[in-house]
Amino acid sequence: MDTKTVKDVQYWKTFAGSLKIDARALIDGQSVDAADGKTFDCVSPIDGKVLAQVADCGEADIDRAVSAARRSFEQGVWAGLNPRKRKAAMLRWAALLRDHADELSVLETLDAGKPIGDTTSVDIPGAIYCIEWFAEAIDKVGGEVAPVDHHLVGLVTREPIGVVAAVVPWNFPLLMASWKFAPALAAGNSVVLKPSEKSPLTAIRVAQLALEAGMPAGVFNVVPGFGATGKLLALHMDVDCLAFTGSTAVGKQIMQCAGQSNLKRVWLELGGKSPNIVLPDCPDLDRAASSAASAIFYNMGEMCTAGSRLLVHRDIKDVFIEKLLAAAASYRPGDPLDPSTSMGAIVDTIQLERVLSYIESGRQQATLLCGGSRALEDSGGYYIEPTVFDVTDPAARIAREEIFGPVLSVLTFDSVDEAIRIANDSEYGLAAAVWTSNLTTAHEVSRRLRAGTVWVNCYDEGGDMNFPFGGYKQSGNGRDKSLHALEKYTELKSTLLRLR
Ligand code: NDP
Repeated sequence: MDTKTVKDVQYWKTFAGSLKIDARALIDGQSVDAADGKTFDCVSPIDGKVLAQVADCGEADIDRAVSAARRSFEQGVWAGLNPRKRKAAMLRWAALLRDHADELSVLETLDAGKPIGDTTSVDIPGAIYCIEWFAEAIDKVGGEVAPVDHHLVGLVTREPIGVVAAVVPWNFPLLMASWKFAPALAAGNSVVLKPSEKSPLTAIRVAQLALEAGMPAGVFNVVPGFGATGKLLALHMDVDCLAFTGSTAVGKQIMQCAGQSNLKRVWLELGGKSPNIVLPDCPDLDRAASSAASAIFYNMGEMCTAGSRLLVHRDIKDVFIEKLLAAAASYRPGDPLDPSTSMGAIVDTIQLERVLSYIESGRQQATLLCGGSRALEDSGGYYIEPTVFDVTDPAARIAREEIFGPVLSVLTFDSVDEAIRIANDSEYGLAAAVWTSNLTTAHEVSRRLRAGTVWVNCYDEGGDMNFPFGGYKQSGNGRDKSLHALEKYTELKSTLLRLR
């Protein structure tokens, strides 16, 4: 494509119209239909139209994919490579993905309803960066020589686990997948990835490009399907590790499946109901208000880290809400293929109905401050206005349960202790934020918040790979991103050598 091309809405619509989507599974180096020929419709939430027929993988396909992964692992075609060579292969793959960035961005936008401005700036570059980061890291991490009796040498090494399954969601389809498959592959594992049935297209395309970049057959397999396909992986006796991002309810089922089968390692990145606390000495109310709006309306609120509980001190509540509503007004549902759109479509009709039913319960239990309705119905797509509720009772459903949509609950408090009590009174503990000018308060509140990530005077900063990401409590276990992610995909081995 000519670099001077203006990438406006027309460009993206033309691109979308010219796509040829191959939605077959990718197993053992080949694009294949499901063994029983089953498919499902992949529907675009932008306009409700069918984008593709996707292979619906069942037991035979899962068995094939797992045994291809096992074979490639045992043969050492990937695990046995010098890490430097795995790095080179992954960097070639990342470069090829970059060449296909527009195609991947438009696929993600069509499939998940995300604004093209976000898929081109966050989702696709973020996934490529993740692949590059773990590729670059893997030839720099070594083991340990442990202190031991003089007649011995003691080595502590990390080895790939073997066959890693990844079951991932639809809110950041490729990005969340890359947080699993990039460290797993870099560490030398073979991977079977099940994307969400709501958003399988970029995962399939990225696996096709992995092959084109020279990744050996069987090392990276993609098996689209529904929850039942994910369950087959969770129950499979030859899957050594399952990394999951999704709902807490399904995370619990996956742990049970591991217990019923081979005790595979299970790593869960689950839901959240993250508190965003604004203290009266907040250094910049305007910035805090626009950040609070983006914390819940970015990506249509389909974020595990969404700042869905805004806790505001009573002394500044009125002025803050005024600023918040002004900031919310800049999020308007629009055509996701238009680069100026800040809010796209909700991923499917199930999620649309789910969010609308939460809004209905909010109308019963709280005061609606803005939004509250479906939008752009004529488009045939699934859009919801940014919605804010003033909630007096922290026990209200909308203030406790993960909605995963553009719905914000504003709660009021009178003291720091009360704010922390409300913030921590949740089954979740994924992320939290506090706004204050006082350094001591910032540190003390951060320490007391039970969450895997705490932001001070910001929200959702830190797109770098360097920070571990994951939750306390029922938000999951283990960490994505950073070198710590490699711990999930490796086993520790102690080797003791007797010298004499
Ligand atoms: P799920 O947890 O059901 O889906 C996540 C992934 O798990 C998908 O690939 C799904 O497949 C798969 N899956 C579903 N059931 C099983 C199972 N029994 N065993 C193994 N894998 C399974 O999320 P939903 O799509 O149902 O969304 C519901 C709610 O979950 C959201 O409203 C939100 O609150 C929360 N959620 C949280 C996410 C997060 O990032 N923390 C991400 C997504 C959802 P398939 O989609 O094909 O059914």
